[in-house]
Amino acid sequence: MNRKDLADLIFPDVKGADYYEKIYPPRNLPEGAQVVRVAPSPTGFIHVGGIFQGLIAKKIADQTGGVFFVRIEDTDQKRKIENGVEEILGAYKDYDLYPNETVGKGDYGPYIQSERKDIYQSYAKKMIEDGIAYPCFCSPEELEQIRENQTKAQERTGYYGKWAKCRNMPVDMAIEKIKNGDPYIIRFKSPGNPDKKIKHKDVIKGNIDMPENDQDIVIIKSDGLPTYHFAHVVDDHLMGTTLVTRSDEWIASIPLHLQLFYVMGFKTPKYAHTAPLEKAEDGSRRKLSKRKDPEAAVSYYTTEGIPKEALKEYLMNIANSNFELWRKQNPDKDMMKDFDFQINKMGVSRSFI
Ligand code: GLU
Repeated sequence: MNRKDLADLIFPDVKGADYYEKIYPPRNLPEGAQVVRVAPSPTGFIHVGGIFQGLIAKKIADQTGGVFFVRIEDTDQKRKIENGVEEILGAYKDYDLYPNETVGKGDYGPYIQSERKDIYQSYAKKMIEDGIAYPCFCSPEELEQIRENQTKAQERTGYYGKWAKCRNMPVDMAIEKIKNGDPYIIRFKSPGNPDKKIKHKDVIKGNIDMPENDQDIVIIKSDGLPTYHFAHVVDDHLMGTTLVTRSDEWIASIPLHLQLFYVMGFKTPKYAHTAPLEKAEDGSRRKLSKRKDPEAAVSYYTTEGIPKEALKEYLMNIANSNFELWRKQNPDKDMMKDFDFQINKMGVSRSFI
């Protein structure tokens, strides 16, 4: 028995990854055109940051003759709410930021992750065959035990290196366990060494050095759905994303994401991590809070009667500080058509609302 037998046993019915490579060919776009996406989760709360991200993404796509698309990231089924997708797309429509491609529109769909299960499984299968993914049979109790042992030994927590019990399990044993009905999930076999550093140049933050990832993260969960980390890599590859604009809370995941792109042989998109929208209060500053600040919700602006154009102008002003002067000099121009937005001039650390 070899890795191919193991992969066939786990995913007997999925198509080969080359099938998807054919049906989603590279996009035929002019040189310099950027494919930019926003990837919200349908949890029912439309944050003003979502409009901010959409504004930036659309502006770059329009300015470069590229594509702006919205992908719905709903792999965490517990957080998903009914009508979440409609609410997200409704907000983009209201704000005149409707994407070129999204649910029900575009050649690179489905644009909802839960409808792409077969695609992720097909790539996970290939990774098992290639020896860069493996089934893990550890129970929650065993994982808890590993964590306790790591804490006692004052070592980093997680599933990695010598702590990753199932990482080097012989194929025959894994096959036997699966045939026996033992529950399992699929993990990535990370080739990283945290004593080494990755060098990354973020479009907004500039050079970032971080230790390599060595965590064997879960890529396919017990419900057969992928984790966000894995899904976004497969999607951004197949959907031809060239620029990822997202909030900087994701920076810590950069070593893992770049590593996944690399081992899967995919071209890495550029990343632009935006500073969070912040609020000044009592002489200090903090991230706009979904719980404490009503103005974090897009619905607040509608209720308060704040015109949509005014919010967009305000957000553009936060995005590029030279916008204010441009607006003074060009009071009648349409910023979506005429203002020359520069993503690399966005603030590195904070943006105020
Ligand atoms: N789905 C993630 C979120 O809702 C987006 C992460 C990304 O853009 O890569 O925060």
